[in-house]
Amino acid sequence: MRRNLINETPNLIGQKVKLAGWVNVRRDHGKLIFIDLRDRSGIIQMVIIPDKEDAYAAAKELRSEYVIEAEGLVKKRPGGAANEKISTGGVEVEVEKIKILSAPTVELPVDISEDDLNLHLETLLDNRVLTLRNKKVKAIFTVYSEILKAYTDFMKAEDFTEIKTPKILSAATEGGANFFKISYFEREAFLAQSPQFYKQAGAGIFERVFEIGTVFRAEPHFTTRHVNEYTGLDAEMSFIENFSEIMDELEMTMAYIIKEVQKNCAEELEMYKAELLPVKGIPRIRLTEALEILDKEYGKKMETVDIDSEGERLICEWAKKNHNSDFIFLTHYPTNVRPFYSMPSKEDPRFTETFDLLFKGLEIASGGQRIHDYNQLVENIKKHHLNPDDFEHYLDIFKFGMPPHGGWGLGSERIVQKMLGLKSIKEALLFPRDVKRLTP
Ligand code: ATP
Ligand code: MG
Repeated sequence: MRRNLINETPNLIGQKVKLAGWVNVRRDHGKLIFIDLRDRSGIIQMVIIPDKEDAYAAAKELRSEYVIEAEGLVKKRPGGAANEKISTGGVEVEVEKIKILSAPTVELPVDISEDDLNLHLETLLDNRVLTLRNKKVKAIFTVYSEILKAYTDFMKAEDFTEIKTPKILSAATEGGANFFKISYFEREAFLAQSPQFYKQAGAGIFERVFEIGTVFRAEPHFTTRHVNEYTGLDAEMSFIENFSEIMDELEMTMAYIIKEVQKNCAEELEMYKAELLPVKGIPRIRLTEALEILDKEYGKKMETVDIDSEGERLICEWAKKNHNSDFIFLTHYPTNVRPFYSMPSKEDPRFTETFDLLFKGLEIASGGQRIHDYNQLVENIKKHHLNPDDFEHYLDIFKFGMPPHGGWGLGSERIVQKMLGLKSIKEALLFPRDVKRLTP
Protein backbone atom coordinates (compact mmCIF):
# COMPACT_ATOMS: atom_id res chain seq x y z
CA MET A 1 0.00 0.00 0.00
CA ARG A 2 1.36 3.42 -0.87
CA ARG A 3 1.74 6.04 1.84
CA ASN A 4 -0.91 8.74 2.01
CA LEU A 5 -0.24 12.21 3.31
CA ILE A 6 -2.37 13.45 6.15
CA ASN A 7 -3.79 16.36 4.16
CA GLU A 8 -5.25 13.90 1.63
CA THR A 9 -7.50 12.27 4.21
CA PRO A 10 -10.48 14.67 4.03
CA ASN A 11 -10.96 13.47 0.44
CA LEU A 12 -10.67 9.79 1.35
CA ILE A 13 -13.62 9.31 3.70
CA GLY A 14 -14.68 5.64 3.75
CA GLN A 15 -11.35 4.47 2.36
CA LYS A 16 -8.35 2.63 3.77
CA VAL A 17 -5.16 4.67 4.10
CA LYS A 18 -1.59 4.17 5.20
CA LEU A 19 -0.12 7.12 7.08
CA ALA A 20 3.35 7.67 8.49
CA GLY A 21 4.70 10.31 10.82
CA TRP A 22 5.39 11.34 14.40
CA VAL A 23 3.08 10.93 17.38
CA ASN A 24 2.29 14.53 18.26
CA VAL A 25 0.44 13.53 21.40
CA ARG A 26 -1.40 10.53 22.83
CA ARG A 27 -4.58 10.89 24.86
CA ASP A 28 -6.48 8.06 26.55
CA HIS A 29 -10.24 8.36 27.09
CA GLY A 30 -11.63 5.41 28.98
CA LYS A 31 -10.77 2.41 26.86
CA LEU A 32 -10.10 4.44 23.71
CA ILE A 33 -6.65 5.66 22.73
CA PHE A 34 -6.35 8.81 20.63
CA ILE A 35 -3.19 9.65 18.74
CA ASP A 36 -2.56 12.93 16.96
CA LEU A 37 -0.27 11.98 14.11
CA ARG A 38 1.94 14.59 12.42
CA ASP A 39 3.57 14.48 9.01
CA ARG A 40 4.90 17.15 6.69
CA SER A 41 1.42 17.94 5.45
CA GLY A 42 -0.50 18.26 8.71
CA ILE A 43 -1.90 16.64 11.84
CA ILE A 44 -4.76 14.14 12.14
CA GLN A 45 -6.57 12.41 14.95
CA MET A 46 -6.43 8.61 15.01
CA VAL A 47 -8.54 6.35 17.26
CA ILE A 48 -7.51 2.92 18.44
CA ILE A 49 -10.17 0.66 19.92
CA PRO A 50 -9.42 -2.38 22.15
CA ASP A 51 -10.99 -4.77 19.59
CA LYS A 52 -8.01 -4.27 17.27
CA GLU A 53 -5.78 -6.15 19.67
CA ASP A 54 -2.37 -5.84 17.98
CA ALA A 55 -2.83 -2.16 17.11
CA TYR A 56 -4.09 -1.50 20.63
CA ALA A 57 -1.08 -3.17 22.23
CA ALA A 58 1.26 -1.12 20.04
CA ALA A 59 -0.67 2.09 20.74
CA LYS A 60 -0.26 1.57 24.47
CA GLU A 61 3.51 1.85 24.02
CA LEU A 62 3.36 5.11 22.09
CA ARG A 63 4.57 8.43 23.48
CA SER A 64 5.17 11.78 21.82
CA GLU A 65 7.66 11.73 18.90
CA TYR A 66 7.47 7.99 18.29
CA VAL A 67 7.78 7.49 14.54
CA ILE A 68 5.09 5.16 13.28
CA GLU A 69 3.26 3.83 10.28
CA ALA A 70 -0.47 3.26 10.68
CA GLU A 71 -3.15 1.75 8.48
CA GLY A 72 -6.83 2.34 8.99
CA LEU A 73 -10.16 3.62 7.79
CA VAL A 74 -10.89 7.32 7.26
CA LYS A 75 -14.16 8.33 8.92
CA LYS A 76 -16.11 11.52 9.29
CA ARG A 77 -15.84 12.67 12.88
CA PRO A 78 -19.05 12.31 14.86
CA GLY A 79 -21.02 15.60 14.86
CA GLY A 80 -19.78 18.11 17.43
CA ALA A 81 -16.35 16.47 17.66
CA ALA A 82 -14.98 18.24 14.58
CA ASN A 83 -11.97 20.51 15.11
CA GLU A 84 -12.52 23.50 12.86
CA LYS A 85 -9.05 24.92 13.45
CA ILE A 86 -7.35 22.44 11.13
CA SER A 87 -8.17 21.23 7.62
CA THR A 88 -8.25 17.58 8.78
CA GLY A 89 -10.45 18.49 11.74
CA GLY A 90 -13.58 16.93 10.24
CA VAL A 91 -12.12 13.43 9.88
CA GLU A 92 -10.35 10.80 11.92
CA VAL A 93 -8.71 7.47 11.21
CA GLU A 94 -9.87 4.27 12.87
CA VAL A 95 -6.61 2.40 13.15
CA GLU A 96 -6.22 -1.26 12.25
CA LYS A 97 -2.45 -1.68 12.18
CA ILE A 98 0.45 0.15 13.79
CA LYS A 99 4.11 -0.35 13.08
CA ILE A 100 6.69 1.44 15.23
CA LEU A 101 9.56 2.65 13.04
CA SER A 102 11.58 4.44 15.71
CA ALA A 103 11.24 5.39 19.35
CA PRO A 104 12.89 8.24 21.29
CA THR A 105 15.68 6.92 23.48
CA VAL A 106 15.26 9.57 26.16
CA GLU A 107 12.55 11.47 27.96
CA LEU A 108 11.66 14.53 25.83
CA PRO A 109 13.20 17.67 27.36
CA VAL A 110 10.27 19.86 26.24
CA ASP A 111 6.67 19.24 25.25
CA ILE A 112 6.21 20.43 21.68
CA SER A 113 2.65 19.26 21.11
CA GLU A 114 0.92 22.51 22.04
CA ASP A 115 -0.22 24.93 19.32
CA ASP A 116 1.66 27.77 21.01
CA LEU A 117 4.93 26.76 22.59
CA ASN A 118 5.48 29.79 24.82
CA LEU A 119 9.04 28.79 25.60
CA HIS A 120 11.88 31.05 26.62
CA LEU A 121 13.99 31.96 23.56
CA GLU A 122 16.98 30.13 25.02
CA THR A 123 14.95 26.96 25.66
CA LEU A 124 13.49 27.19 22.19
CA LEU A 125 16.98 27.39 20.68
CA ASP A 126 18.77 24.95 23.00
CA ASN A 127 16.33 22.20 22.04
CA ARG A 128 16.19 23.21 18.42
CA VAL A 129 15.99 19.80 16.70
CA LEU A 130 12.90 19.11 18.76
CA THR A 131 11.24 22.53 18.94
CA LEU A 132 11.49 22.93 15.16
CA ARG A 133 9.08 20.00 14.84
CA ASN A 134 6.31 22.05 16.42
CA LYS A 135 3.76 22.96 13.78
CA LYS A 136 3.83 26.69 14.41
CA VAL A 137 7.61 26.89 14.70
CA LYS A 138 8.01 24.87 11.53
CA ALA A 139 5.60 27.22 9.75
CA ILE A 140 8.21 30.01 9.98
CA PHE A 141 10.43 28.01 7.66
CA THR A 142 7.65 27.20 5.24
CA VAL A 143 7.19 30.95 4.85
CA TYR A 144 10.97 31.41 4.65
CA SER A 145 11.23 28.85 1.89
CA GLU A 146 8.46 30.63 -0.01
CA ILE A 147 10.34 33.93 0.30
CA LEU A 148 13.50 32.39 -1.16
CA LYS A 149 11.51 30.90 -4.01
CA ALA A 150 9.68 34.15 -4.75
CA TYR A 151 12.96 36.08 -4.70
CA THR A 152 14.61 33.64 -7.10
CA ASP A 153 11.59 33.47 -9.41
CA PHE A 154 11.22 37.22 -9.58
CA MET A 155 14.90 37.94 -10.12
CA LYS A 156 15.04 35.38 -12.91
CA ALA A 157 11.89 36.75 -14.51
CA GLU A 158 13.59 40.16 -14.47
CA ASP A 159 16.57 38.66 -16.32
CA PHE A 160 19.02 38.63 -13.41
CA THR A 161 21.61 35.82 -13.51
CA GLU A 162 22.03 33.85 -10.30
CA ILE A 163 25.61 33.76 -9.05
CA LYS A 164 27.50 32.35 -6.06
CA THR A 165 30.54 34.25 -4.87
CA PRO A 166 33.39 33.18 -2.55
CA LYS A 167 32.96 33.54 1.19
CA ILE A 168 36.63 33.01 2.04
CA LEU A 169 38.55 36.17 1.30
CA SER A 170 42.20 37.17 1.47
CA ALA A 171 41.45 40.63 2.82
CA ALA A 172 38.80 42.27 4.93
CA THR A 173 36.75 43.59 1.99
CA GLU A 174 35.30 46.88 3.09
CA GLY A 175 37.62 47.47 5.98
CA GLY A 176 36.21 47.74 9.46
CA ALA A 177 36.22 45.41 12.41
CA ASN A 178 33.26 43.18 11.71
CA PHE A 179 35.25 40.38 10.06
CA PHE A 180 35.84 36.86 11.27
CA LYS A 181 39.45 35.86 10.83
CA ILE A 182 40.10 32.24 9.95
CA SER A 183 43.20 30.20 9.40
CA TYR A 184 43.62 29.20 5.77
CA PHE A 185 46.45 26.69 5.34
CA GLU A 186 49.61 28.74 6.04
CA ARG A 187 47.79 32.04 5.86
CA GLU A 188 45.17 34.14 7.51
CA ALA A 189 41.88 34.70 5.70
CA PHE A 190 38.54 36.38 6.34
CA LEU A 191 34.89 35.41 6.03
CA ALA A 192 32.91 37.60 3.65
CA GLN A 193 30.73 40.20 5.39
CA SER A 194 29.00 40.95 2.09
CA PRO A 195 29.23 39.81 -1.55
CA GLN A 196 29.62 43.46 -2.54
CA PHE A 197 32.80 43.39 -4.61
CA TYR A 198 32.04 40.15 -6.40
CA LYS A 199 28.50 41.08 -7.29
CA GLN A 200 29.81 44.34 -8.75
CA ALA A 201 32.24 42.25 -10.79
CA GLY A 202 29.17 40.22 -11.81
CA ALA A 203 27.36 43.38 -12.89
CA GLY A 204 30.33 44.08 -15.18
CA ILE A 205 29.92 40.64 -16.76
CA PHE A 206 26.22 39.72 -16.80
CA GLU A 207 24.75 43.24 -16.37
CA ARG A 208 22.23 41.92 -13.85
CA VAL A 209 23.08 39.45 -11.10
CA PHE A 210 21.60 38.22 -7.88
CA GLU A 211 22.90 36.03 -5.10
CA ILE A 212 21.38 34.19 -2.17
CA GLY A 213 24.37 33.71 0.05
CA THR A 214 25.70 33.44 3.56
CA VAL A 215 26.96 36.62 5.17
CA PHE A 216 29.22 36.62 8.22
CA ARG A 217 29.29 39.55 10.61
CA ALA A 218 31.60 39.58 13.61
CA GLU A 219 29.54 42.23 15.37
CA PRO A 220 29.22 41.63 19.11
CA HIS A 221 25.53 42.62 19.05
CA PHE A 222 22.95 41.59 21.60
CA THR A 223 19.82 42.74 19.80
CA THR A 224 16.63 41.20 18.43
CA ARG A 225 17.68 42.00 14.84
CA HIS A 226 21.29 40.79 14.54
CA VAL A 227 22.86 37.38 14.18
CA ASN A 228 26.45 36.65 13.22
CA GLU A 229 25.63 34.46 10.24
CA TYR A 230 22.69 35.27 8.01
CA THR A 231 21.46 34.83 4.46
CA GLY A 232 21.63 37.86 2.23
CA LEU A 233 19.46 38.41 -0.82
CA ASP A 234 21.70 40.56 -2.97
CA ALA A 235 21.27 42.08 -6.40
CA GLU A 236 23.28 44.34 -8.65
CA MET A 237 22.18 45.87 -11.97
CA SER A 238 24.00 47.75 -14.72
CA PHE A 239 23.05 50.55 -17.12
CA ILE A 240 20.92 52.44 -14.65
CA GLU A 241 20.25 56.13 -15.16
CA ASN A 242 19.78 56.88 -11.51
CA PHE A 243 19.30 55.13 -8.22
CA SER A 244 15.49 55.31 -8.24
CA GLU A 245 15.61 52.52 -10.81
CA ILE A 246 17.14 50.31 -8.13
CA MET A 247 14.38 51.25 -5.70
CA ASP A 248 11.79 50.52 -8.42
CA GLU A 249 13.26 47.05 -8.87
CA LEU A 250 13.42 46.35 -5.13
CA GLU A 251 9.88 47.61 -4.67
CA MET A 252 8.59 45.23 -7.36
CA THR A 253 10.57 42.42 -5.77
CA MET A 254 9.02 43.01 -2.35
CA ALA A 255 5.54 43.33 -3.87
CA TYR A 256 6.01 39.95 -5.53
CA ILE A 257 7.35 38.29 -2.38
CA ILE A 258 4.44 39.58 -0.29
CA LYS A 259 1.91 38.51 -2.92
CA GLU A 260 3.35 35.01 -3.21
CA VAL A 261 3.50 34.50 0.55
CA GLN A 262 -0.10 35.66 0.89
CA LYS A 263 -1.17 33.30 -1.87
CA ASN A 264 0.79 30.22 -0.80
CA CYS A 265 1.15 30.54 2.97
CA ALA A 266 -2.32 31.60 4.09
CA GLU A 267 -2.47 28.99 6.86
CA GLU A 268 0.98 29.94 8.19
CA LEU A 269 0.14 33.66 8.18
CA GLU A 270 -3.08 32.87 10.03
CA MET A 271 -1.18 30.99 12.75
CA TYR A 272 0.82 34.16 13.41
CA LYS A 273 -2.14 36.50 12.88
CA ALA A 274 0.10 38.22 10.35
CA GLU A 275 -1.43 41.04 8.37
CA LEU A 276 0.29 42.16 5.21
CA LEU A 277 -0.71 45.11 3.12
CA PRO A 278 -0.27 44.84 -0.64
CA VAL A 279 2.82 46.76 -1.75
CA LYS A 280 2.13 49.69 -4.03
CA GLY A 281 3.86 53.03 -4.10
CA ILE A 282 6.32 52.71 -1.23
CA PRO A 283 6.93 56.25 0.06
CA ARG A 284 10.46 57.57 -0.59
CA ILE A 285 11.75 60.38 1.57
CA ARG A 286 15.17 61.82 2.21
CA LEU A 287 16.81 60.84 5.46
CA THR A 288 17.00 64.54 6.44
CA GLU A 289 13.25 64.84 5.85
CA ALA A 290 12.66 61.78 8.01
CA LEU A 291 14.70 63.34 10.78
CA GLU A 292 12.56 66.50 10.59
CA ILE A 293 9.40 64.41 10.84
CA LEU A 294 10.80 62.57 13.86
CA ASP A 295 11.62 65.89 15.50
CA LYS A 296 8.30 67.62 14.70
CA GLU A 297 5.86 64.76 15.10
CA TYR A 298 7.52 62.54 17.66
CA GLY A 299 9.76 64.95 19.57
CA LYS A 300 12.80 62.85 18.74
CA LYS A 301 16.06 64.64 17.94
CA MET A 302 19.11 62.85 16.50
CA GLU A 303 22.60 64.11 17.36
CA THR A 304 23.96 63.39 13.87
CA VAL A 305 22.46 62.98 10.39
CA ASP A 306 21.62 59.31 10.87
CA ILE A 307 18.74 57.31 12.24
CA ASP A 308 18.71 54.78 15.09
CA SER A 309 16.46 51.76 15.61
CA GLU A 310 13.91 53.77 17.61
CA GLY A 311 13.80 56.31 14.77
CA GLU A 312 13.29 53.52 12.23
CA ARG A 313 10.37 52.22 14.24
CA LEU A 314 8.74 55.67 14.48
CA ILE A 315 9.21 56.60 10.83
CA CYS A 316 7.53 53.31 9.88
CA GLU A 317 4.65 54.22 12.18
CA TRP A 318 4.46 57.50 10.29
CA ALA A 319 4.49 55.74 6.88
CA LYS A 320 1.70 53.44 7.98
CA LYS A 321 -0.41 56.31 9.28
CA ASN A 322 0.18 58.70 6.38
CA HIS A 323 0.71 56.38 3.42
CA ASN A 324 -0.92 53.12 4.54
CA SER A 325 2.37 51.38 3.81
CA ASP A 326 4.32 48.77 5.78
CA PHE A 327 7.42 49.89 3.87
CA ILE A 328 9.33 53.14 3.49
CA PHE A 329 12.50 54.10 1.60
CA LEU A 330 14.85 56.57 3.27
CA THR A 331 17.23 58.10 0.74
CA HIS A 332 20.36 60.24 0.47
CA TYR A 333 22.37 59.11 3.48
CA PRO A 334 25.39 61.30 4.27
CA THR A 335 28.75 60.26 2.84
CA ASN A 336 30.27 59.53 6.23
CA VAL A 337 27.74 56.79 7.14
CA ARG A 338 27.98 55.02 3.77
CA PRO A 339 30.77 52.89 2.28
CA PHE A 340 33.44 54.47 0.03
CA TYR A 341 31.97 52.99 -3.16
CA SER A 342 28.65 54.88 -2.74
CA MET A 343 27.89 57.35 -5.52
CA PRO A 344 27.95 60.95 -4.22
CA SER A 345 24.82 62.92 -4.94
CA LYS A 346 25.08 65.22 -7.96
CA GLU A 347 23.25 68.10 -6.36
CA ASP A 348 25.03 67.87 -2.99
CA PRO A 349 28.15 65.68 -2.61
CA ARG A 350 27.82 65.61 1.17
CA PHE A 351 25.10 63.06 0.53
CA THR A 352 24.99 59.79 -1.43
CA GLU A 353 22.67 58.21 -3.97
CA THR A 354 21.81 55.48 -1.51
CA PHE A 355 18.77 54.24 0.37
CA ASP A 356 17.58 51.98 3.14
CA LEU A 357 14.33 50.07 2.91
CA LEU A 358 12.43 49.76 6.18
CA PHE A 359 9.66 47.23 6.82
CA LYS A 360 7.35 47.32 9.84
CA GLY A 361 9.83 49.28 11.91
CA LEU A 362 13.13 47.73 10.85
CA GLU A 363 15.79 48.21 8.17
CA ILE A 364 15.62 45.21 5.88
CA ALA A 365 17.79 46.44 2.99
CA SER A 366 20.50 48.92 2.09
CA GLY A 367 21.38 49.85 -1.43
CA GLY A 368 22.29 52.52 -3.90
CA GLN A 369 24.24 53.51 -6.94
CA ARG A 370 27.98 52.71 -6.89
CA ILE A 371 30.86 54.72 -8.28
CA HIS A 372 31.81 53.17 -11.63
CA ASP A 373 34.60 55.53 -12.68
CA TYR A 374 38.07 54.24 -11.80
CA ASN A 375 39.63 57.59 -10.90
CA GLN A 376 36.65 58.78 -8.91
CA LEU A 377 36.70 55.54 -6.99
CA VAL A 378 40.40 55.82 -6.14
CA GLU A 379 39.81 59.37 -4.93
CA ASN A 380 36.87 58.30 -2.83
CA ILE A 381 38.84 55.48 -1.23
CA LYS A 382 41.36 58.10 -0.14
CA LYS A 383 38.63 60.43 1.10
CA HIS A 384 37.49 57.61 3.35
CA HIS A 385 41.05 57.38 4.75
CA LEU A 386 41.62 53.99 3.16
CA ASN A 387 44.54 52.88 1.03
CA PRO A 388 43.81 52.17 -2.69
CA ASP A 389 46.64 49.57 -2.65
CA ASP A 390 44.48 47.45 -0.37
CA PHE A 391 41.78 47.36 -3.07
CA GLU A 392 43.93 46.26 -5.98
CA HIS A 393 41.71 43.38 -7.12
CA TYR A 394 38.50 45.28 -6.57
CA LEU A 395 39.83 48.22 -8.58
CA ASP A 396 40.58 45.87 -11.51
CA ILE A 397 36.82 45.72 -12.11
CA PHE A 398 36.85 49.41 -13.00
CA LYS A 399 39.98 49.41 -15.12
CA PHE A 400 38.32 47.55 -17.95
CA GLY A 401 35.17 49.60 -18.53
CA MET A 402 32.25 49.48 -16.14
CA PRO A 403 28.68 50.67 -16.75
CA PRO A 404 26.76 52.80 -14.23
CA HIS A 405 25.31 50.32 -11.77
CA GLY A 406 23.91 49.74 -8.34
CA GLY A 407 22.03 47.25 -6.22
CA TRP A 408 20.99 46.19 -2.77
CA GLY A 409 21.67 43.86 0.13
CA LEU A 410 18.46 42.52 1.65
CA GLY A 411 18.31 40.48 4.86
CA SER A 412 16.16 37.38 4.35
CA GLU A 413 15.63 36.61 8.03
CA ARG A 414 14.52 40.14 8.85
CA ILE A 415 11.78 39.83 6.23
CA VAL A 416 10.34 36.73 7.93
CA GLN A 417 10.82 38.21 11.37
CA LYS A 418 8.77 41.28 10.51
CA MET A 419 6.26 39.45 8.34
CA LEU A 420 5.30 37.08 11.15
CA GLY A 421 5.91 39.48 14.03
CA LEU A 422 8.63 37.34 15.64
CA LYS A 423 10.19 38.93 18.71
CA SER A 424 13.73 37.94 17.74
CA ILE A 425 15.39 37.37 14.39
CA LYS A 426 16.88 34.23 15.93
CA GLU A 427 13.49 32.55 15.65
CA ALA A 428 13.81 32.98 11.88
CA LEU A 429 16.97 30.86 11.62
CA LEU A 430 16.99 27.10 11.96
CA PHE A 431 20.21 27.10 13.95
CA PRO A 432 21.17 30.69 14.73
CA ARG A 433 24.68 31.85 15.55
CA ASP A 434 25.13 34.72 17.96
CA VAL A 435 27.89 36.01 20.18
CA LYS A 436 27.23 33.30 22.77
CA ARG A 437 25.74 30.58 20.63
CA LEU A 438 27.69 28.24 18.35
CA THR A 439 25.49 25.19 19.00
CA PRO A 440 23.35 23.33 18.22
P1 ATP B 1 22.15 47.37 10.89
O1 ATP B 1 22.40 48.85 10.76
O2 ATP B 1 20.74 47.01 11.19
O3 ATP B 1 23.15 46.69 11.78
P2 ATP B 1 23.61 47.22 8.45
O4 ATP B 1 23.25 48.54 7.85
O5 ATP B 1 24.92 47.05 9.12
O6 ATP B 1 22.44 46.75 9.44
P3 ATP B 1 23.94 46.19 5.81
O7 ATP B 1 25.41 46.10 5.75
O8 ATP B 1 23.27 47.34 5.17
O9 ATP B 1 23.49 46.08 7.34
O10 ATP B 1 23.36 44.79 5.29
C1 ATP B 1 22.27 44.68 4.40
C2 ATP B 1 21.08 44.00 5.07
O11 ATP B 1 21.48 42.76 5.63
C3 ATP B 1 20.50 44.77 6.23
O12 ATP B 1 19.58 45.74 5.80
C4 ATP B 1 19.82 43.66 7.02
O13 ATP B 1 18.58 43.29 6.46
C5 ATP B 1 20.77 42.50 6.83
N1 ATP B 1 21.68 42.39 7.96
C6 ATP B 1 22.79 43.14 8.18
N2 ATP B 1 23.43 42.76 9.29
C7 ATP B 1 22.71 41.73 9.81
C8 ATP B 1 22.87 40.90 10.94
N3 ATP B 1 23.90 41.03 11.77
N4 ATP B 1 21.95 39.94 11.15
C9 ATP B 1 20.91 39.77 10.31
N5 ATP B 1 20.71 40.52 9.21
C10 ATP B 1 21.58 41.49 8.96
MG1 MG C 1 22.38 48.96 6.12
